[in-house]
This record gives sequence, structure tokens and C-alpha cells, in this order.
Amino acid sequence: NVRVRFAPSPTGNLHVGGARTALFNYLFARSKGGKFVLRIEDTDLERSTKESEEAMLQDLSWLGLDWDEGPGVGGDYGPYRQSERNSMYKHYAEKLLESGHVYRCFCSNEELEKMKEIAKLKQLPPVYTGKWASAMDDEMQEELEKGTPYTYRFRVPKKGSLKINDLIRGEVSWNLETLGDFVIMRSNGQPVYNFCVTVDDATMAISHVIRAEEHLPNTLRQALIYKALGFPMPNFAHVSLILAPDRSKLSKRHGATSVGQFREMGYLPQAMVNYLALLGWGDGTENEFFTLEQLVEKFSIGRVNKSGAIFDATKLRWMNGEHLRVIPSEELTKLIGERWKSTGILTESEGPFIEEAVQLLKDGIDLIPHSDKALSNLLSYPLHDTLKSPEAKPILEDKLSEFSTSLMAAYDNGEILSALEEGSAGWQKWVKSFGKSLKRKSLFMPLRVLLTGKLHGPEMASSVALIHKAGTCGVVAPQVG
Ligand code: GLU
Repeated sequence: NVRVRFAPSPTGNLHVGGARTALFNYLFARSKGGKFVLRIEDTDLERSTKESEEAMLQDLSWLGLDWDEGPGVGGDYGPYRQSERNSMYKHYAEKLLESGHVYRCFCSNEELEKMKEIAKLKQLPPVYTGKWASAMDDEMQEELEKGTPYTYRFRVPKKGSLKINDLIRGEVSWNLETLGDFVIMRSNGQPVYNFCVTVDDATMAISHVIRAEEHLPNTLRQALIYKALGFPMPNFAHVSLILAPDRSKLSKRHGATSVGQFREMGYLPQAMVNYLALLGWGDGTENEFFTLEQLVEKFSIGRVNKSGAIFDATKLRWMNGEHLRVIPSEELTKLIGERWKSTGILTESEGPFIEEAVQLLKDGIDLIPHSDKALSNLLSYPLHDTLKSPEAKPILEDKLSEFSTSLMAAYDNGEILSALEEGSAGWQKWVKSFGKSLKRKSLFMPLRVLLTGKLHGPEMASSVALIHKAGTCGVVAPQVG
């Protein structure tokens, strides 16, 4: 039974790295017919906030990564917040104390500091060398009676090594001599992170732990706790880091890094999911375009790369454009129409004008918010500025004024508009006959300049038709000349 989990700490925003970990877990679960569990790791009470938890759940839902068990949906292995599982941690800590895998350590902070200093001086690993690992019962009893605070310390085997077979990295092994006995419960009764994670993964029957590479040192401790508790070890898969283009750790200085920021910038969840999947995974072909359903079908953990993946915001933007252009046109029209109305560019959010405008402009934009500029650009008529640009020089030299008089007449007498109404064939026909009447061949640029006020833009006939129609949307129809 495949059961995986995503276990965020609600201490900030959901970053692209976390989102990718969630996605790989989700894809693995869905491709194996397993369960995707969401667990909130809020043991750090000071840094965890409800707002962060809520925002993370929202981001995951927005990405379409619905969880089978966890906050909001429940499940048989709850509660799904670590802060609500304290009694379980206590229970297993006592078990380990009884079986001797854990002992009470009464060392004070000063003593522990001293141990560290000595180890440093002798250039030895900072392992626990205190007496409580092998203290006599009466010594311990004495401290208990005195009320000396104590921690629960895990007894690490002093020799040998531990190895796991990581599904991404292959065999990973650690030398136990350098680890040293570690605390699993603090003197105030608070269980320590690694212990909580192990108890949770074991009692939630997690079969595969898929998480970031930076958790590898935790895996060693967790594996030891698994063994001590007699739980079967899950499979581990440690996903590599996400790097900035300069191969440094991806951080704020590289721009947006959280899912919420990308959403606010107008990115589509389907593009986000597609791009995140490509950070360290590919289906082995050249294809890079995948829907979430296709990813579920194609995903395999064995194809996840163990080297760091570069986060390329430019590529993400390009990919957003690719996804934008496969949105069914009705849906896209609705999305963009609503945006134009809400930003005040248009007074209406639907109608044939909007449908045509969306069809015309969608190829030139990667992000829905860019449609604002695309539309206002189309409807603006900066002829004067255009003619000042060096690119317009050859057109000017081409007797533009003479040309424009005939063109203006054709506009005024309705010739142009009726040609446009006949669609592209009608337009081509008119352009041809107009060219003939002027005895000239290259009409394309001067026509565009005079009819749209610009040297470049989307397909001309539709642009002109739309600019004209814009008159009905409260936008002034262009004046030729
Ligand atoms: N709570 C950890 C984090 O946010 C994840 C721990 C795990 O996946 O084991 O990084």
C-alpha cells in the first residue's frame, strides 16, 4: 500500500521547492493508486502560525494537489497536526525508555558545553560523552528525587554504519561513530523534531518518504529510531536542491520564489505544476508540455535526477504562455474579459469584441495580466511617435502623405470597413485592388502604420477590424492620417 506524505512546517510561505516536493509525492501516490497525506509539522510553536498553515493549504489546492488525508479532510491516521499528537510522542518515548534505547540524561547545559569544548580541543566529533549513558540506577534515582531536569537521550550504537537505499540517490551510508547520542525529548517534555517525524511516519503507515535532500542528516537519526521502535523502515527518496541560474541556492534575491507570488503575478496553476515537475524530472523524451493528468500517467520516481535543478523564471514564463494558449477559447475569453473589466480597461467583461480581441492577442502574451498592455497597445494610435522612429524612415520616404490621402478617402467612404466585414478574403481582395489603383506593390508596412499607428503588432486585418469595433466599447475609432 503506497502512502506518502507532504509535511510542511507552517512557518512561512510555500516555496517552489516545497511545492515540487508536494507535487512529486502527489504524482507518486496518484500513479501508484496510493494515498497522499498532508501533515502539518508545527512543533516549533514559536515560528508556526495559523495564517501560514492556511496559506499553504490554499496554495496546494490552487495547484490542484488535493490530499486524501489531512487537515480539512480528516482520515484514519489523525490528528494530522504535530501539535495535536503530543500524547503519541510521549507514549513512544516511554516505550524506548523501557526497552533501553533511550536513557534519562541529567547533564546541565554547562556540562554539555564543556563536552563540546573538550571535543573541539581534541579535534574529536562532538558526540555525547556524559555519564548518563551508563549510569547506575541509584545515581539516577538520586537525581530524580532531587528534581533535576532531564532529557530523553537516544542510545546510538557506538560502532558500525547504517545504510539506506535511496530511490533517487542509491545507497547512502553513515558511519555511526561520529553521530553520538541525541536528545529525543527536552527537559520540558517537548519532543524533538526528528522523533516526531519518525513516530508520525511510522504510525501513519507511510511507505515512501519523498523529501528534500537537506533532510538526509535527519534520515540517519530517524532510521535509528525506526529500528529501535521495531517499525518497518519506509523507502526513502531525497530530491535534489533547486538552484538559481548561477547555481547558488535559490533565494529572494533571485526574484519570486513562493507559489503565492507567482499566483499573484498571474501565473496559471497548470503551468506552475508542469514547470515544477520538470525541475529534476522528465519522461525521457523531448516533450516538456504536460498536464497534471499526463504527469500522473508518466511520472516515475526512478527518473528523478539526483543533481540540482536550475529554476529558470524565463522558462516558467514561456511555459505559462504554452498553457495559456491551450485553454479552451471560451474559458480564456472569460478569464481575460473579467480581467479587462476589473482593471477598468473595458466597461464590459463579455461580448464579440472581447472574443475577437482575445483570439487576436493571445499569441503575443505569456501571462494573462499582459493582456492589459496588449489591448491598450492595440487600441492606442501613436502615429506621430511611430513616424519619428528610424524604422519608419523608408516608409516616409515612400511618399506616405500621398498614400495616406487615398487611404483616408477609402476609410471615409467605408471601403475599408466593408472589406474588413467580409473577413480576411475580403480584406486581401481590397488590399490588392487598392494597390493596383495606386500602382504600387508594397503596401503592407504603410497600411499597418496608417491604420494602426504602429510599425508592429498582431495580424493586421483583425487588428484594424478590432480597432474599428472598439468604437462600440467606448474607445475612439482611429483617425487615419
Ligand atoms: N517539515 C519539514 C520541512 O518543512 C519536512 C520534513 C519531512 O519531510 O520529513 O522541511
